[in-house]
Amino acid sequence: QLKSEIVAVGTELLLGQIANTNAQWLSEKLALQGINIYHHTVVGDNLQRIKKVFEQAQNRSDIILVTGGLGPTEDDLTREAFQLMSNLEMTEHAPSMKKIKNYFSRHNQNMTPNNSRQARVFKGSKVLFNRVGMAPGMIVKHESNTWIFLPGVPGEMKDIVTHDVLPFLQEETGNKELIKSLVLKFIGIGESALEHELKSLIQSQQNPTIAPLAQNNGILLRLTAKGESEKYVDELLDKTKSQILAKVGDYFFGENDQTIEQEVVRLLQEQNKKIAAAESLTGGMFTNKLISVNGASSVCPGGIVSYDKKVKQNILGVAPETIKNKGTVSEECAIEMAQNVSQKLDSDIGISFTGVAGPDRVEGKPVGTVYIALISKDGYQLVQRFEFMGNRNIIRNRATLKGLEIIFN
Ligand code: ATP
Ligand code: MG
Repeated sequence: QLKSEIVAVGTELLLGQIANTNAQWLSEKLALQGINIYHHTVVGDNLQRIKKVFEQAQNRSDIILVTGGLGPTEDDLTREAFQLMSNLEMTEHAPSMKKIKNYFSRHNQNMTPNNSRQARVFKGSKVLFNRVGMAPGMIVKHESNTWIFLPGVPGEMKDIVTHDVLPFLQEETGNKELIKSLVLKFIGIGESALEHELKSLIQSQQNPTIAPLAQNNGILLRLTAKGESEKYVDELLDKTKSQILAKVGDYFFGENDQTIEQEVVRLLQEQNKKIAAAESLTGGMFTNKLISVNGASSVCPGGIVSYDKKVKQNILGVAPETIKNKGTVSEECAIEMAQNVSQKLDSDIGISFTGVAGPDRVEGKPVGTVYIALISKDGYQLVQRFEFMGNRNIIRNRATLKGLEIIFN
């Protein structure tokens, strides 16, 4: 089995100014091709330290992918560091040089000698033309290693990898195996409960593998199947999906890029129902989620953001006695909010969110206390109290998601 690793060059990465999304993206793509990644390294823009990291990589990996440091500025040192280590000669890549020259003449700018550095490539390397930017990438075979140099700008890196590097690696590794993933999405069940339900399946299952992962928008299961043909892989995924849904299908709402708000809009459309929300602590987040979905106009006439109690009272029409006697964070207030918004906006369903997002208590109620009420014209009424953990943002997000979950159920 070939070993590979990723080296990301850039002081910004070390300073925490940007996250190493290149390594994340690359790892995911490579893993799908069955290539094992053993290390991620980040190194600053320093010649000696980059060289050291390259030496380390040379000794422990077969395929080394390097991103960043191919640009024109003083701190772009990837080429120099590799040259120092390998003693390989460099030459000018004519098509890249032409592109750079064209760029400068088109923009009426003077080209400095630095800019031409970007077109320099190692002799004997396979040059990966940069369709998006200036500096080309390179594949260099040196000693027993394969080095793949890529620009740091994510859009440029991804373009080159997709067009040139992945096909190259498939050849190189002789990996004819196809790998395909399917993400199943669940809501209303916790990660550990889901894992518990599927324990025997997860443990006995080799192809596809089943990996649970928690996301802020619910719980996901990633199935990854391998095989010689797409048809075979799809059959494996389908079969395992059925086995999973037989156990926890009640909580399943979609696959891959599908979102819970899309599913909620679809369900409402199917039932020909309109919904309107009165939102206090969520400040319109719930309505925003619904309206982000194509076709939401057929199910959502609008909503009312009633944050201050005066708005709850004067615009939404919550009774002053309710607010005085029970408070704004109460079952009673939530019910009136849901009822009134549904009446005012003429919807079939009214939903409301009122609670304490923090950082301070409200009406003596602790941070995280949230009431959600749901009222429908056919007489259905539900009001629930939740105690969400986390900061203001998390609590507001949890409340919004819970609202979607309640409608989904
Ligand atoms: P340039 O020609 O723009 O100088 P370069 O190949 O020299 O490109 P860098 O200078 O290292 O690459 O990075 C250019 C920009 O790309 C960075 O400012 C950063 O925004 C982004 N970038 C670099 N490395 C990464 C990384 N590992 N993950 C995400 N973004 C990155
Ligand atoms: Mg740079």
